[in-house]
Amino acid sequence: MTCPHCRQSAGYHADRPRVLVGLFGPIRYRRAYYYCRRCGRGQSPFDEGAGITSRGLTPAAERLATLAGAVADSFARGGALLEEMAGVRLSESTVERTTEDVGRRIADCLTAAVLFGEPAQWDWYRDARGRRVGYLTIDATGTRQQGPNGGQAEGRMAYVAGVYNPYPREYLRPPGKPPPCLQARYLAGLYPLEQLGPLLRRQAAHVGLEQAEVWVALTDGGGGLEELVQMNFNRPDLVVILDFYHAASYLEELARALHAADEEAAAAQAEQWCGLLKEEGGATALAVLDSWPWPQRQPAALREAREKVRGYFANNLHRMEYPEYLAEGWQIGSGVVESACKTVVGQRLKGAGMRWGEAGAHALCHVRALYRSEQGQWQAFWQRRFTHRPPVHQRK
Ligand SMILES: [Zn+2]
Repeated sequence: MTCPHCRQSAGYHADRPRVLVGLFGPIRYRRAYYYCRRCGRGQSPFDEGAGITSRGLTPAAERLATLAGAVADSFARGGALLEEMAGVRLSESTVERTTEDVGRRIADCLTAAVLFGEPAQWDWYRDARGRRVGYLTIDATGTRQQGPNGGQAEGRMAYVAGVYNPYPREYLRPPGKPPPCLQARYLAGLYPLEQLGPLLRRQAAHVGLEQAEVWVALTDGGGGLEELVQMNFNRPDLVVILDFYHAASYLEELARALHAADEEAAAAQAEQWCGLLKEEGGATALAVLDSWPWPQRQPAALREAREKVRGYFANNLHRMEYPEYLAEGWQIGSGVVESACKTVVGQRLKGAGMRWGEAGAHALCHVRALYRSEQGQWQAFWQRRFTHRPPVHQRK
């Protein structure tokens, strides 16, 4: 055979035995082994062709081990789950390394602009004026990092981004049954923010965002998020909206500071202010708060909460026109924005006491994002052409 490293010829050496872990127990086989004297490296082309990993798992065992490693609370529990459900026994570290290998392969594909499955044309739901609307979101969430010698290290931000097609409010719903689950595709990883933009753009193009007349980007007030969508989805019909529930949480905090000793009064006040924000928008809510009959003597906590609300609102007023957005039939916040962080990253990477190496967390984010994305994405990745050959080596 031709040596893949130096393109010189590598001679046949022997038929070497190997034992694999498959779904039905160990598989013993022999395959030809070639050795390149020049590189000092051996090859068994059969293994690559058959999609067998360096850890000796069959493709099916690798797929299940990865699923178990990604969905269980920990790699140890993933190993136990795998044994319980498939009778496949792998060590905790094999489940971990296998899951991370796959995460790296997903990341490599995305970086090389390889997307999974055929390009789709999502049937975007229409707004109150009959325009098709596509949604984008991006959010940051902290992950605890493992320092040298098992010590603590500074946390790293994982970003979770998504393109999605939320089921609209009642009066805009098309006839027929509601969809069984949310149409969404996620990206997640410990990326610098500027690297995530192009990845999200490609993912959006892959589901036909171009066909939507209006693009709505929902984010919280996190640094750089609005700029990222402005830069990457730059067209006149881009609407940036500050996630309503994030804005509302500031008002809830302010209400608690005002009625520190009375939970019920705080809840009632929060509800009133949040209703005002939804019905009148950020500017009116801010004006009302500015002329509020605040008590003469204010505890430090209340003064701080007021400052916080004022700063946050003043920075974001341009994307807090909630009554207008609602009149257009757009979403002003949804489970999607917040729950993406929780379901994609939080549930698996932020368990009690968990600390992560950077590479491991980055890889696992990719597996989770793929798994939580719409039906078909996970399956499409596992088509062999994506899983075992880096795209640059693909034969025509
Ligand atoms: Zn060679």
